[in-house]
Amino acid sequence: MLIDNHNRKINYLRLAVTDRCNLRCNYCMPSEGINFSKNDKLFTIDELARLSKIMVEMGVDKIRLTGGEPFVRKDLMVLLRQLSTLDGLQDISITTNATLIGPYIDELKELGIKNINVSLDAINRETFERITRRDQYDTVHNNLIRLITEGFNVRINFIALEHQNIQDILPILELMKHYPVSVRFLEEMPFNGGSKKFNTIAWDYKRILEHIRSEYPEIEKLESPKTSTSINYKIKGHAGTFGLIPSFTRTFCGSCNRLRISATGDVITCLYGKPKMNLRTLMRNENAEENVKKEILRAVGSRAKTGFEAQEKHTGVFDSSMTSIGG
Ligand code: SAM
Repeated sequence: MLIDNHNRKINYLRLAVTDRCNLRCNYCMPSEGINFSKNDKLFTIDELARLSKIMVEMGVDKIRLTGGEPFVRKDLMVLLRQLSTLDGLQDISITTNATLIGPYIDELKELGIKNINVSLDAINRETFERITRRDQYDTVHNNLIRLITEGFNVRINFIALEHQNIQDILPILELMKHYPVSVRFLEEMPFNGGSKKFNTIAWDYKRILEHIRSEYPEIEKLESPKTSTSINYKIKGHAGTFGLIPSFTRTFCGSCNRLRISATGDVITCLYGKPKMNLRTLMRNENAEENVKKEILRAVGSRAKTGFEAQEKHTGVFDSSMTSIGG
């Protein structure tokens, strides 16, 4: 079992499989993209599978594949097939923009992968295209509905962006009223590849809640797992739920159970912190398993207590883009 220096159990790995993405969401990166990593700097699928096995042996029982856009990697299903055979791995989840997932939905189902987070920040076509800078609205909406009707446990990630998509907050709840999905509203974070700097946000989780409450006064707060980053609610008469994720306000650090490994091998113990080390060379050398385990223990043994503490020690934290951190 992995326990950090603040006595928090770490059992959840967010593993980025690429830093590339086929969208250019304006809150994530500049329109020209970022300096994407060369292929030899990315873990191969075999390395990702070996690393996952090592992490599961160390006590990880949930792995979320993220990126960049995971499905940009043509061989993603090879990795998923291998992960689905790992003893001790109870939950394989994916975070995706749902542009490329269509052809893989049947096999995902066969592999028993149930939890899919779909990033969708608008239900209005123009707003979607303005934010993502791409013309993928129909594909995303069709795939989203397919995932829901095929019985996946779908959560929608919607970043509340001032002057951009606030007008879609209530309509997305209304649109999803009849579906068993959770719509999670996240605070914007300044990991956008340097395109915009800010120290405060206009739409924090409290303001989002008040906005929702103004339309739906009858909302009920739900019990959430201790390690959940979202505060969850139910609107009377709605099939699904909604959640608020204080990703900028950072109220959830006390129960954080996550570790991130970027597609290039950086070990990140807090979104707001510097990478602790890089595992790529270790994974490619002799005694990889032993050495990686040692380094992971070292990283987990020196985690910042909160995202604020991590940020204090990290100059340049906001120059990075979420597409390389892995979201
Ligand atoms: N491509 C996949 C997707 O779109 O879901 C996975 C990677 S994406 C970087 C993971 C998550 O990070 C998405 O839900 C995205 O909306 C979120 N994200 C990216 N930049 C963000 C930012 N600056 N603030 C808050 N969330 C951000």
